[in-house]
Amino acid sequence: MDERSDLRAAVRTIPDYPKPGILFRDITTLLGDARAFRRAVDELVQPWPGSKIDKVAGIEARGFILGGAVAHQLAAGFVPIRKKGKLPHETVTIAYSLEYGVDEMEMHRDAIAPGERVILVDDLIATGGTATAAVELLRKMGAEVVAAVFVIDLPDLGGAERLRRLGVTVRTLMS
Ligand code: IMP
Repeated sequence: MDERSDLRAAVRTIPDYPKPGILFRDITTLLGDARAFRRAVDELVQPWPGSKIDKVAGIEARGFILGGAVAHQLAAGFVPIRKKGKLPHETVTIAYSLEYGVDEMEMHRDAIAPGERVILVDDLIATGGTATAAVELLRKMGAEVVAAVFVIDLPDLGGAERLRRLGVTVRTLMS
């Protein structure tokens, strides 16, 4: 097996979770596999060795795990993007649509300085609703969003395309 198919094999698929008819891609098995976790992080950062990245922004909650490791690899700071009401200091908030209804995410107002170069990280991109809102939030703070990186892309749902149309470089490790 080559290394990419190793990575693919490390993701577990759970049928009918969290609702009947949904195939949930579970990366906890990848995170628990030392070689696969290291490989995934190395691959996510591969285009940006030695380039100046100021901050890595991770989307709650799995984006925190990957994002911390990515930030370490790029010698960047880490910034959490959280569900509303979880951050203790002054925040900037953005509302976004879910399949049913709306939700809000936020980050600390002072987490990013205007002009800072930021890479956004999450485990998976589906419709792109979550990542698009995160990019808008980062841009609202004056960040230059250098790229958005994900372990898994569900291309039929069009999220990666949607982000590219916003002028964001998208990197994913498997579809
Ligand atoms: P989107 O907003 O439709 O692109 O959904 C992406 C968000 O939902 C990300 O934060 C993912 O962590 C989460 N998500 C959606 N489907 C899955 C899945 O099958 N496995 C893990 N996370 C998922």
